[in-house]
Amino acid sequence: MKGRLYVVSGPSGAGKGTICKEFLLLHPEVHFSVSCATRAPRPGEVDGVHYYFITREAFLARRAAGDFLECAEINGDNWYGTPRSIVMEKLDKGQNVLLEIENNGAQQVIRYYPDTVGVFILPPDTHTLIRRLVGRGTEDMERLTRRILKVPSELEAAKGYDALIINDEVDRAVAQLGEVMAGTYVTGKRERDTLSALTRDFADPKVCLELLERYYNEGNK
Ligand code: 5GP
Repeated sequence: MKGRLYVVSGPSGAGKGTICKEFLLLHPEVHFSVSCATRAPRPGEVDGVHYYFITREAFLARRAAGDFLECAEINGDNWYGTPRSIVMEKLDKGQNVLLEIENNGAQQVIRYYPDTVGVFILPPDTHTLIRRLVGRGTEDMERLTRRILKVPSELEAAKGYDALIINDEVDRAVAQLGEVMAGTYVTGKRERDTLSALTRDFADPKVCLELLERYYNEGNK
């Protein structure tokens, strides 16, 4: 039997990376797809573990050759993509594969591979999302603003995913991702209400940008 493809996505700051990392520690049988990226490695990041770090030229050549299952240029400066052949090989061998990617790429995968299970990670509330985004300390105000402005369209897309998971407690969110893979998870009222509340807050980006500025200034005092 073929394996199944799981795509975990969500706005930046939702904590999808943490959930996937913890999940994979408990489920080494699931294959995590390491993406190609054109950005520079951050301190501590290892080539072939966190990403395959390649040049823009190499990326675009591989893209033209159809090497990627999906790819996206994120925030207008760096390309990210899922190498197709490794994923297909693992699925053919019957292994489940997990992708942790942003929404545009996730939509491509969901569209082209209808058997894909899409999981959207939600932050518990708007303040937490913005605080987590700023808290990483890896990005300047301009990039943070671009990330915030993308959130409304990401939340809009959330409805098209098979499961919504709230990342308020990592252990619980990880367990719920396990339930998704076991086919026992059902998105409930709490998740739908959280999505509605976030959508309401982000309907006015001005308020969210003010919050961003506040947390950013607090962090840089
Ligand atoms: P970062 O630069 O912080 O590692 O990642 C930026 C964003 O790129 C994150 O939202 C992450 O989920 C997303 N990402 C990582 N790999 C891929 C990929 O292969 N394809 C797409 N579309 N997004 C990716």
